[in-house]
Amino acid sequence: MPTSSARSSSGCPPERHDLASRQGRGTATLILVTNDDGITSPGLHALYDELKRLDQVIVVAPDAERSAVGHAITVTTPLRVQEFRRGEEVMGFATNGTPADCVKIAVRTLLDPPPDLVVSGINRGSNMGTNVIYSGTVSAATEARILGIPSLAISLDTHGNADWTYAAVVGRRLAAQVLEHGLPPRVLLNVNVPNLPASRIRGLRVTRQGDSRFVEGFVVREDPRRQPYYWLTGSYEVDDDDPETDGWAVANGYVSVTPISFDLTAHAARAELVRWGLEA
Ligand code: MN
Repeated sequence: MPTSSARSSSGCPPERHDLASRQGRGTATLILVTNDDGITSPGLHALYDELKRLDQVIVVAPDAERSAVGHAITVTTPLRVQEFRRGEEVMGFATNGTPADCVKIAVRTLLDPPPDLVVSGINRGSNMGTNVIYSGTVSAATEARILGIPSLAISLDTHGNADWTYAAVVGRRLAAQVLEHGLPPRVLLNVNVPNLPASRIRGLRVTRQGDSRFVEGFVVREDPRRQPYYWLTGSYEVDDDDPETDGWAVANGYVSVTPISFDLTAHAARAELVRWGLEA
């Protein structure tokens, strides 16, 4: 577990040249790690430690949990950045922004030159099916791809006792693959890993986004002023019985790798709308 965060000794915002010189990058590859569970999340630390076996890694992540904020960005309040240490080690920076903010601020102001790869995670909880839309984890990776940087998001399928070990290894292997092969324009990888030891993982499947979704309910309670308040609850329903889907793969012990994009056009529907005569 992380132990501490601290302001930089001067209390001043980090300067680009400070960071660049501290890293002494030269020709090294730099991997940016972020997430939406917050910079103290054990999933982020497991990923950071494993990716450091590849090359240089820096973290720019939210200072507290920002799960389910989707692709939100901050436009009405200032963003603050604080150096983050684990013991004596400077891991990077915590911000009060969203996951997408973290990637923007890292790429546009903190890191020069920009990172070669962005890896977001490891999220506590899967991001599959329609849940992808709400995911801050995926949106951080999406933001990187919008900025032209290859990226992947990685999530562990549990909200209970997490075993981050194998997911971190998967993150490192896929990061190495993406660094080697690159990714098609606009495409990023959404990776979901069963919460199982390596010996019980059945393999890896390249999947499509399925239809599994969060079926919500609301807990209604009364506050001390006798006013009702509402708290989202519910459960994740895996509806996918198609072995091509992310939900099926993870439910059946496979690592799911879905190539996704931020082009939300429903291409097949364009012809249908034209048939309506909308262009006439
Ligand atoms: Mn999360």
